[in-house]
Amino acid sequence: MHEALLATLPLPTTPGRVAVREGALYRVTMVDPARSAVVPALARELERVFELFAREAGVDAAEPVNIRIEPGIFGHHQVGRAADVYAVGGIGLREWWNRWRERTARAAALPTPLARRLARETEEKENLGWRIYEAMRRHGRWAQPYGHPVQLFGPWTRESGPWRQISDFLLRAHRDHIHCSK
Ligand SMILES: [Zn+2]
Repeated sequence: MHEALLATLPLPTTPGRVAVREGALYRVTMVDPARSAVVPALARELERVFELFAREAGVDAAEPVNIRIEPGIFGHHQVGRAADVYAVGGIGLREWWNRWRERTARAAALPTPLARRLARETEEKENLGWRIYEAMRRHGRWAQPYGHPVQLFGPWTRESGPWRQISDFLLRAHRDHIHCSK
């Protein structure tokens, strides 16, 4: 089929579920679109937060940042109410996390408070994994089922919240992606 035609066809999604649309400053890659599709309320929330993330990160409209979403399996994923973000800017969340650990440790070991602060700020500016997590944490309105923590988990949850008491088990399970549900 001609490529121009293909692009206009709707993604093969489950009824009632939709793809997360691209924005002015970001693109979305949905791995296995049929299984990555989510309910419209979650798609709209992700679109809003992704655009804020990209704007705050200083993304140029001529070069939108790519965000990769992969299907999850458990809980809210089964009903399309959860999404897993695995990569941003072409780099996996696990790599962003490893980089974050190395650079912030190096920053903390610098001799003066000013040097430590500048090195930390440089990493906060450049690390798109940390930035998208922070944007999702600060701007997102995620589910909080009765008796459960806010449903946003990722590599930085223990350090940044919202649920700093996250178990080692759950934290390990989210070292390579950010899970959110609505
Ligand atoms: Zn998930």
